[in-house]
Amino acid sequence: MCGELTPLVPLRGGGKANHEQRNEFNLPGCVLLFGGLVLVCFKFPWGLLGGAVLIWFGTKMTRVSICAKCDGKVEDKAAKSCPHCQAVFVDEVV
Ligand SMILES: [Zn+2]
Repeated sequence: MCGELTPLVPLRGGGKANHEQRNEFNLPGCVLLFGGLVLVCFKFPWGLLGGAVLIWFGTKMTRVSICAKCDGKVEDKAAKSCPHCQAVFVDEVV
């Protein structure tokens, strides 16, 4: 038998977590969504294009990344660990 197992370095705060995507109400996102809908309905055909872009941005803005472990909001979607509980994210956010 060969020696002891090297203990894994404990992570600060501990553990691993997944990102969770959630919709969150926020004013700028909703204004964009609403503006997009108005454009799509009333300014054919270019409004359709502009409206679609606004809706796309609005949807992105109301969609937030959440740490599954502590429920904290993660602003930086590329973050490798949670800024609140230091949990390391094991999933990939596309
Ligand atoms: Zn967390």
